Amino acid sequence: MTHIREKIKNLSLELTRIPSIVGTEGEIHIAERIYDILSKMDYFKQNPNNLKMIDVKGDTLKRKYVMAFIEGTKFRSSKTILMLGHIDTVGMEDYGELKEFATNPEILKKKLFEKKFNQEIMKDLESDNWIFGRGIFDMKTGVAALIVMMEEFSKRVEEFGGNLVFIGVPDEEGNSAGMLSAVEDLAKIAEEKGWDFVAAIDTDYMTGRFPGDENKYVYIGTVGKLLPCFYIYGKETHVGEAFNGLDANLLAAEIMREVDLSSDLCDIADGEVTLPPISLHLRDLKTEYSVQTVNAVNLYFNFATHISQPDEVLEKLKVKAARAFEKTIERLNQEYKKYCELSKIPYKKLPWEVRVLTFEELYSQVKEKLGESLDKMIDNLADELLKKGVDDREFSLRIVQEVHKYYPDTNPVVVLYFSPPYYPHNFVKGENEKENKLLEAINKAVEEAKKQYDYKIVIKKFYPYISDLSYCSIAKNDESIAKLINNMPAWSRTYSLPVKAIQKISMPVVNIGPYGKDGHKLTERISSTYTFDAMPFILEKTISNLLKCYSENI
Ligand SMILES: [Zn+2]
Repeated sequence: MTHIREKIKNLSLELTRIPSIVGTEGEIHIAERIYDILSKMDYFKQNPNNLKMIDVKGDTLKRKYVMAFIEGTKFRSSKTILMLGHIDTVGMEDYGELKEFATNPEILKKKLFEKKFNQEIMKDLESDNWIFGRGIFDMKTGVAALIVMMEEFSKRVEEFGGNLVFIGVPDEEGNSAGMLSAVEDLAKIAEEKGWDFVAAIDTDYMTGRFPGDENKYVYIGTVGKLLPCFYIYGKETHVGEAFNGLDANLLAAEIMREVDLSSDLCDIADGEVTLPPISLHLRDLKTEYSVQTVNAVNLYFNFATHISQPDEVLEKLKVKAARAFEKTIERLNQEYKKYCELSKIPYKKLPWEVRVLTFEELYSQVKEKLGESLDKMIDNLADELLKKGVDDREFSLRIVQEVHKYYPDTNPVVVLYFSPPYYPHNFVKGENEKENKLLEAINKAVEEAKKQYDYKIVIKKFYPYISDLSYCSIAKNDESIAKLINNMPAWSRTYSLPVKAIQKISMPVVNIGPYGKDGHKLTERISSTYTFDAMPFILEKTISNLLKCYSENI
């Protein structure tokens, strides 16, 4: 193991020194470097067709990703393991004046030492165990570990059947353009070569779950994410006639209270709980100051999933929005009644009614009325917005507003829809052969690691950080996908996912990550212990165990 340990360490430092901020040329440079490293390995010298540098489809930045595969020769097998890593990093502005040293671990550590941090960071700065640098934790070290594994397994192709495929992809910190492009290619190659993907292994970062947490985690499966949005349409009024309208701000506030951080919206599978939804945006759509009240508000949430599909999330939020609407009407009536009593005027119940629609419902009702011309109007607006280059969220809202404009009922209404992005979760239940074999391979690997090393290694379900792992599977239920697509106005206009390709490669996933702290912060760092000993050990064992358990019945 010592030579592997040194190799991974050196390679992770080498890769860290190549800046590769998402959305920059650096992403191309690092892809070229990785291609270069792989091409010098004997196996790829002998099998040059098994190593490719591939263009990211439709990418204006002309980025590329690297794909390399090893075919075992012991016996013929379609079983294929995907090993994926992202080669980009987040920006470096957080380093301030130290920015120029951010990817130079040796100098950076000295420079950081001159600054003041909390006790824990100061201690790590003093210790030889910790290595600092942008990207070293997220996830150059993980990529280095995968490349070294490729080299190791390429030396023993006679010992196994089946295939190992490595991809190093850009844009993970952006829009996952690299992974989504790779997924389409993988589905195609799988078709041609008859590959059957059995598991995906990622080596993205792993850290403590709470302050002082010493556990080391291996995650089977991954969390997913949706961006449910509310278009809240009230009834404007003059402030002088306050009870004549329905303030969209008030309704929005009530929806916010119902949804934001509500633990009953935590998505729970196998006892593992997501964080509740949290708002990312709340804005009224009035553009000027006036004494007219607000008639429309846009509100959206980050919604994490472990088990719920988009249609189920939509249903839950519909219920929440209806309850919020009810409470708003109740409160308005109560306050109006009190006001009437105080002012000694007759009270009459306010006319408001609860109305919550999904975008799909809104669209189909308007379509019934307008027919094809509705789609034409949407297309025209979409073209106009695309020319302006508006953000995906803004784009989605504008389309919802446009369709609502033609909705015959002008009463207050809440319209629920999705904006991009969508990251499917991957729940490894242990219900089919692939899931069971992956669970078994990891359990064994971790048990062995525990005997060898003195770490408290814990296997958990659901990698908790949004990552490319999400695109290794998607709901197979077409109805559920249709609900997503029909409620996402940006779908096929500014955003889409290669659903068919993802369904084709669909496989369970695991993240076996290096251990470190402070991903995406200037104190981003890895711990040499665990990262260079137990982590590669578990990684190697998991791959070997998987290859072995698929060869048993052959
Ligand atoms: Zn990452």
